[in-house]
Amino acid sequence: MTNELRGLQPQHPTLYQLAPDGASLEFLFAQCPACGKLAFPANVPGCSHCGDPLSNAGKVARPGGGKLLEFVTLHVPLLPGMEVPRIAADILIEDGIIEEGVMAGSDESCLRVGMALRAVAVALPGGETFACRFVPAEGAAR
Ligand SMILES: [Zn+2]
Repeated sequence: MTNELRGLQPQHPTLYQLAPDGASLEFLFAQCPACGKLAFPANVPGCSHCGDPLSNAGKVARPGGGKLLEFVTLHVPLLPGMEVPRIAADILIEDGIIEEGVMAGSDESCLRVGMALRAVAVALPGGETFACRFVPAEGAAR
């Protein structure tokens, strides 16, 4: 299964890439040369912390994940072809950076606000791309 993912392209290559383990994702940030903080995604037109244009910013890959801020289960497809039910979440992926993500699976019962999440790659139908999904970071710890 991991070998399958390695042959696929990211659905959003400016946002994330496959991590060396072949299953997790790394998020792509720009490191601001002015304030040193991370901005997301790497091609964002300006630093969200200090407003620097980021023209000389370096690209930084960090293990993808974050903190679950809130989530809601969608039962109606908002776009044609969207699989439902799906759990949409607001996730704090880095200090001061909140992104909308999709949880793997549709079982809300294992989720709670404030828990740590990990980003993993999930192959999309068609066999050419993978998407970003979030799973609880703690495995047996519950
Ligand atoms: Zn900055």
